[in-house]
Amino acid sequence: ARIELQADGVGPGTTSDGHRVQVLANIGTLDDALLAARADVEGVGLFRTEFLFPDREQPPSVAEQTEAYTRVFDAFAGRKVVVRTLDAGADKPLAFANLGEEANPALGVRGLRLHRELRHLLDDQLEALAAARRSTSADVWVMAPMVATPSEASWFADLGRAAGLPTVGTMIEVPAAALRSGQVLADCDFASIGTNDLSQYLFAADRMDGRLAPLLSGWQPALWSTIRACVDGADGKPVGICGEIAGDPLLALVATGAGVSSLSMATARTGLVRAALRRHDLATCTAMLQAVLESASPEEARHAVMALVDKDL
Ligand code: PEP
Ligand code: MG
Repeated sequence: ARIELQADGVGPGTTSDGHRVQVLANIGTLDDALLAARADVEGVGLFRTEFLFPDREQPPSVAEQTEAYTRVFDAFAGRKVVVRTLDAGADKPLAFANLGEEANPALGVRGLRLHRELRHLLDDQLEALAAARRSTSADVWVMAPMVATPSEASWFADLGRAAGLPTVGTMIEVPAAALRSGQVLADCDFASIGTNDLSQYLFAADRMDGRLAPLLSGWQPALWSTIRACVDGADGKPVGICGEIAGDPLLALVATGAGVSSLSMATARTGLVRAALRRHDLATCTAMLQAVLESASPEEARHAVMALVDKDL
């Protein structure tokens, strides 16, 4: 592919030797979407739909959802938009999707598990997404949160396609799914690794508890062993990262070395990440991942990667 000469941080995500990694935005509200759409991003890698209708007692109607999704898709006409179906649960409470108190909300009936309990919510959402997709030129991908097993992923993929959504996938945020990505993706088109929750479940450390932050560092070597296993198992299907770490320029380089196809982050981080990619070649990114995997601690991993960084960064 021809690499156009562009200033650092502008244009599509690519390493200095032309290896492409899509740089995408994470959005929640319509305001986020409009801001991201004006920025130089290749699309949306994570549309957190649970933030669209926060203070509702009753679920939004199909018509109301269709209108909201259409506005977002129109803003990204011609670009990719990866939509996540409602990720509700006791940790992200939504009044209209509430099954009551749970002793361990992070381990409870959330994400896809709630889709199975409250099927009408999922059916309405898929119907609205399919209707909105038909009326715009955005490239709409749809994925489910909190998938743990191949059968859950297949169940969701079948429902999505039956609703008229041709590109269906899964988030990977449960270690069991990361380790078995080939089977989990058997009926799916793509995966997106949610490293916020993946770290929480991998290290058995509550992501809301600041005292545990060191365990949840994006530099933890065990996190990268898991990400590498996930990408390697995926049989060449697109695997992106949409957790916070994607917006850290150095960790974005490590992710590129792990073979991810896209990085999705807060819009404000996209320029920094593209600039970092453009100053490093793929071999350097691969060496960075290797250095992390050979490290015994997050500190050691970070130092090892720093030693490989282009000094002008
Ligand atoms: C994640 O878990 O990494 C993720 C992107 O989803 P959320 O932060 O919304 O749980
Ligand atoms: Mg998550």
